[in-house]
Amino acid sequence: MQVTANGKHFIDLEDKYGAHNYHPLPVVLSRGEGCYLWDVDGKRYFDFLSAYSAVNQGHCHPRIVGALTEQAGRLCLTSRAFYNDALGPYEQYIHEYFGYDKVLPMNSGAEAVETALKLARKWGYLKKGIPENEALIISCEGNFHGRTITIVSLSTDPDARADYGPYTPGIGVIPYNDVAALEALLEEKGESVAAFLVEPIQGEAGVYVPDEGYLSACYDLCKKHNVLFIADEVQTGIARTGRLLCCDHEGVRPDIVILGKAISGGVLPVSAVLADDEVMLTIQPGEHGSTFGGFPLACRVATAALEVVKEEKLAERAETLGRIFREEMNLIKSPLIRQIRGKGLLNAVVIEPHDGKEAWDVCLKMAENGLLAKPTHGDIIRFAPPLVISESELHEAITIIHNSIIALE
Ligand SMILES: *Cc1c(COP(=O)(O)O)cnc(C)c1O
Repeated sequence: MQVTANGKHFIDLEDKYGAHNYHPLPVVLSRGEGCYLWDVDGKRYFDFLSAYSAVNQGHCHPRIVGALTEQAGRLCLTSRAFYNDALGPYEQYIHEYFGYDKVLPMNSGAEAVETALKLARKWGYLKKGIPENEALIISCEGNFHGRTITIVSLSTDPDARADYGPYTPGIGVIPYNDVAALEALLEEKGESVAAFLVEPIQGEAGVYVPDEGYLSACYDLCKKHNVLFIADEVQTGIARTGRLLCCDHEGVRPDIVILGKAISGGVLPVSAVLADDEVMLTIQPGEHGSTFGGFPLACRVATAALEVVKEEKLAERAETLGRIFREEMNLIKSPLIRQIRGKGLLNAVVIEPHDGKEAWDVCLKMAENGLLAKPTHGDIIRFAPPLVISESELHEAITIIHNSIIALE
């Protein structure tokens, strides 16, 4: 695909003055609305990444932007040194919306994961009675939970981990989608395990959907061994997979839920940890916090973003449109397509490299044809449009994907 001089200017600036910690597609965006993005030359694209599922409500949703601008002119940040008139109502709203006693507000997904791990360790020592410094956290191979030192200590991805040691101790890693592995580890070390941390679908790893019954079986094992079941719903939560939370598909109510990304509709970095009192109240004043966590602007924006999810029935839309997407994609016969998988509007196509053409080439061709998606882990392309996309827009987008794949054969 051709980058114009206009676009190249911005790419060169990022290359020259920014750290090289990403490898973006050569597209320079300057405007968004609903399921569409426009580049600096005015070319329109379907957004099929949705900022890694942060923009479930669509770009620049007027309701969410309205909440932002209204609150921005009044009060943005107080810190938690004082009370404010936005946080309490927001916390009550979250309590009623998700059904947990309490919320601990943070900003990024990684911070919320860190918060959940701190809560799990506190609970392990104060409630479960694990001897000092012996608490274990179990995570799964192929996980993605963020980028802090402790989180990459859980990671099995060499790119995420290498040369960041020494790693945080007290971590066990077992294969994903393997109930027996969890059972064996809990039989052996259950006494000192504080928590099992799991993504209901592994998003970054390439949209790995575990077998039906996996989450509920893991949950039952956790209960048997008095271990907290922590669901990282940062990517799968907020209607993306066709339910409010992905765990809802199996009727599992995690002990701790981690939310981020779409909780603000992609407008501000907002994250949240949900738990009941037995867990949440193990952290006392002064023992954890964040300057921005739960700031008034975030509270108003996240409330509006969650209202949009309910009012526009985004979970139901994701469920229906996701089925259509997978059905239609399965009709495309191409040597480049090895597998199509997903739930709701969190889907992936596994690309079979063919004639030197790989997932990256497919993404470049789709961008040329007006649709943006990004490969993850080499040969997998994630397809996750904003949930506000209409059925006819979805069909139009599938035609672009189809034509792009055929053009490369
Ligand atoms: C994106 C993501 C995170 C990290 O969120 P950041 O806001 O980038 O720190 C954590 N967990 C999952 C499952 C994610 O997809």
